[in-house]
Amino acid sequence: MATDPGLATDPRPTLAVWKFASCDGCQLTLLDCEDELLGLTERVRIDHFLEMTPVEGAGGERARPDGRGPYDLSLVEGSITTAEDAERIQHIRRVSRYLVTIGACATAGGIQALRNFAEVDEFLAAVYAQPEYISTLETSTPISAHVPVDFELRGCPIDRRQLLEVITAHLAGRKPRIPSHSVCFECKRRGTTCITVAHGTPCLGPVTHAGCGAICPAYGRGCYGCFGPTSRPNLRSMVAQLRHDGMSERDIQRVFRTFNAASPEYAPVPDLVAEEQDSPRDTTEARPERPA
Ligand code: SF4
Ligand code: SF4
Repeated sequence: MATDPGLATDPRPTLAVWKFASCDGCQLTLLDCEDELLGLTERVRIDHFLEMTPVEGAGGERARPDGRGPYDLSLVEGSITTAEDAERIQHIRRVSRYLVTIGACATAGGIQALRNFAEVDEFLAAVYAQPEYISTLETSTPISAHVPVDFELRGCPIDRRQLLEVITAHLAGRKPRIPSHSVCFECKRRGTTCITVAHGTPCLGPVTHAGCGAICPAYGRGCYGCFGPTSRPNLRSMVAQLRHDGMSERDIQRVFRTFNAASPEYAPVPDLVAEEQDSPRDTTEARPERPA
């Protein structure tokens, strides 16, 4: 196998990007860093990134060592849904000095973790003409359920500025400065009037991790939590508030089962919804008038 002789003496740290069950959106965020990408490649050597690097060179030779590592930084997208994935992540952990999971799939099982609340065989029978050829696990689990993870970057997809901060922090040998506060802080920062207080719109902002810049409330729409849970979400109050804002028991369950369905932080939600059902909050409490 021919390899670039320059690689052996290249002093740049090496970066690898890996994919498991996912839509590729988070990997593509790296390619979306159009203005910064060239500067980034001066600082790191991208050694494994199948979305970007041709595995085969023009002459048929391999352009880069393929997946063997070692790598200084691995970015891992996607959740574990097959037995092969569960083995492959062990290899990736072994060859990675620093492993960062990117996106809701990798940090919280992704939308594919909806299978965790149903019979996977029923899904297979509904989707595939010959489900007997499909080999899959019964659950979709985050990477941290299988190997130690050094940092988790949330979002569906992740935010490019936060991704650049994680990579830059790694290069500088410091911890990434990714705030763990909620979307509510971002609303305050951009001067958005709280849509729950002003309009009674159900919004998961109080329990959702910052990172998007509070896009949805800025356009009058409630946050549906695509950046996943904050580090210490007050779910009891959130469930009561959603109820107060008119959401049914079923809808509250469902709003927490979107992109971050397998988040352990959301596990208490069914019990809290049942409690709230037994002792509903006083909904005669005055709510501000909606502006005309
Ligand atoms: S977290 Fe969202 S954007 Fe990222 S890979 Fe999963 S589904 Fe795609
Ligand atoms: S759903 Fe919430 S976290 Fe996702 S973009 Fe909208 S405001 Fe941001």
